[in-house]
Amino acid sequence: MHEVNVGHKALADYRSIVPRELMAEIDELSAELRGKRVLHVNATAFGGGVAEILYALVPLISDAGLPAEWQVITAPPEFYNVTKSFHNGLQGHAVDFPAEARELYESVCRANAADLTRAYDFVMVHDPQPLAMRDYVTMSQDRSTRWIWRCHIDTSTPDQGLYDYLLPSINGYDAAVYTLRDYVPQGLTVPVREIAPTIDPLAPKNMKLSAEDATYIVRQFGIDVERPLLLQVSRFDPWKDPLGVVDVYRAVKANYPAMQLALVGSMASDDPEGWEYLEKVIEYVAADPDVFLLSNLDNVGSVEINAFQSHADVIVQKSTREGFGLTVTEGLWKARPTIGGDVGGIPLQIEDGVTGYLVKSAAQCAERCLQVLAKPEKHRRMALLGKEHVRREFLTPRLLRDDLRLFSDLQAGKIGR
Ligand code: UDP
Repeated sequence: MHEVNVGHKALADYRSIVPRELMAEIDELSAELRGKRVLHVNATAFGGGVAEILYALVPLISDAGLPAEWQVITAPPEFYNVTKSFHNGLQGHAVDFPAEARELYESVCRANAADLTRAYDFVMVHDPQPLAMRDYVTMSQDRSTRWIWRCHIDTSTPDQGLYDYLLPSINGYDAAVYTLRDYVPQGLTVPVREIAPTIDPLAPKNMKLSAEDATYIVRQFGIDVERPLLLQVSRFDPWKDPLGVVDVYRAVKANYPAMQLALVGSMASDDPEGWEYLEKVIEYVAADPDVFLLSNLDNVGSVEINAFQSHADVIVQKSTREGFGLTVTEGLWKARPTIGGDVGGIPLQIEDGVTGYLVKSAAQCAERCLQVLAKPEKHRRMALLGKEHVRREFLTPRLLRDDLRLFSDLQAGKIGR
């Protein structure tokens, strides 16, 4: 495993942003837990929502007085083919899981578990890639450590064969955390908590950018800033439905010929399918000069994502399956009109017709985009309500509070073994 350097963050900087009661609760819990050692483990330091969350959360846990680390597992490239099939299988696709794949999965988890040489009070393991590490931890490392599995995906209807294989590993933890209660599959004996993820309002991706700065950055990518822009920021993944977004754009463009589309999608190192899928999207777009396909390979980093989200006329997240949808949180936080697929954690964030729109098809999404473009002021007011909802519910201190509460309850024996 290798450790990620998360730098420093100060809780004090968040006091003027989030509700006062929330900070008071954090202060109380951190006084109780001061000195406890925390480890987060996941599969990648770059790309996707989990890495985003940990860059914000881990330094704030330390600032709350609990020394915290983040370690990323190391594995050969073939391992990520296996765990990508886990991801798809847990989200409901039928997957093949031959004996060699099991052996590879188990050997990687065993090797990474052997790297755990320090003692921790709480270890939080994210998603299926490092899940089985818990099975290989020796008793001496394990005695007082509380192990938590943090599942970020919708596993409510998993591939049964795969699930039967993973279930004993999940049940070996002291607690499991899911984004939504609905995501918890049958058969778990481990105690379950429901905790939604959050974004960091002070990270370069979410800090306030002036309209001029956002425009300046977006223009550098060839966008005509005088013309309307539709945006989806996501990995190139079928569940995010970028092809559906292209259909939405085409339908909107029939009424607004000036419309442009930006599909901004990072290529994660643990997502081998992304490259293949990107090819499909390129083919589908068929060299339309008003469609911009951009990624980290084009030097799109956090500030550029911020600029695109701050500048876009309409943000869509047309997922057909979604864990939570941090891109929706990010769009709302920038007070941009946001339209999301009516799946996963998106309805927790968008109240249909109040803070944005929820849609079930490309046609419906296009219709809502046209309404947003026709009445910008009305939709700006809705987006401001969305921003307020995010401020109260989906900023990092709220996640910190919920995790500290879980630690406290585990310690007090209110949950777990
Ligand atoms: N993201 C990014 N660059 C990209 C595409 C995505 O930084 O080109 C970020 C995005 O801003 C968000 C996260 O990756 O913070 C995606 O999280 P989400 O929950 O939407 O989806 P996941 O990838 O975890 O399924």
